[in-house]
Amino acid sequence: MQEFSFDIPLQPIEDEITIAAGVKLFMLRTDLNHPYFGGNKFFKLKYNLEEARKRKKEAIVTFGGAFSNHIAATAVAGKVYGFKTIGIIRGDETGDLNPTLKFAMEQGMELHFVSREIYKLKENFDFIDKAQFSKSTILQINNSFIIPEGGANSLGIKGCSEIGNYITIPYDVICCPCGTGTTLAGIILSLDVAQKALGFQVLKGENYLQNEVDKWLHEFSSAYKSWSINEDYHFGGYAKRTPQLIAFVEEFERLHNIPLDFVYTSKMMFGIYDLMQKNHFQKGQTVIAVHTGGLQGNAGFKIKSKD
Ligand SMILES: *Cc1c(COP(=O)(O)O)cnc(C)c1O
Repeated sequence: MQEFSFDIPLQPIEDEITIAAGVKLFMLRTDLNHPYFGGNKFFKLKYNLEEARKRKKEAIVTFGGAFSNHIAATAVAGKVYGFKTIGIIRGDETGDLNPTLKFAMEQGMELHFVSREIYKLKENFDFIDKAQFSKSTILQINNSFIIPEGGANSLGIKGCSEIGNYITIPYDVICCPCGTGTTLAGIILSLDVAQKALGFQVLKGENYLQNEVDKWLHEFSSAYKSWSINEDYHFGGYAKRTPQLIAFVEEFERLHNIPLDFVYTSKMMFGIYDLMQKNHFQKGQTVIAVHTGGLQGNAGFKIKSKD
């Protein structure tokens, strides 16, 4: 399979707060490998695409919300690796396509919109009947390789277990933002006994992610792995943001020239900075923050904030 050439730098981040905390902070810029097919979504798709190829599937079907990074990444992946892609999108189509969906379509992805009620049934066997697709669409879906929403499956976790390979220095703590928790699960698998993973939950809901990650790890051997999830920095829930978060993102970009997305990486970095100020990390520790990408989604915020 054609490989992407990767440039995933480990960027040191130093400012008044890191110095006061005595923390050596680095950001792993997985966002830089591709503007759309970058970040954690590349790692999640890698082995899914390989499996689709092995099974000689010509098309990939996947699922996502209208601003989904996973939809954008799958659309590019299909174009680059020669798969037809079909995106089943949550919510009815209303007027113009947003930048994410427009981009996906430009890559050749075929989009099918289903209501939120129907979308919820996507893991049920009779979903296809309920969604009332045309006969030819049903035939196509049945012959395709299906990747779950967000690329959240064991193959996705296997891919994410390779993120750590790009870290060329010894470190103590590795942080990533979490939606489904599969990226964190992959990262956990790559830890050595002295290292710790810290996930930042971007959705509301107590303990849900802890349980999810436990469930994901069940399929792998993960004894002696040290990890936890912080639930304090979701800012009201998925894709919610506040003036405080916006100000943080602007200041961080001004100081370090690193853009952050509003759904995931901004909340993790806000959390890491707050925890540094509360002396959560030990002095002298090396902390890695994984920039999981997602910047394509910021275009959607610009549109939403106009109306
Ligand atoms: C999808 C996504 C995540 C969440 O990854 P999970 O494996 O679902 O926890 C984090 N960051 C970005 C930028 C994403 O697009």
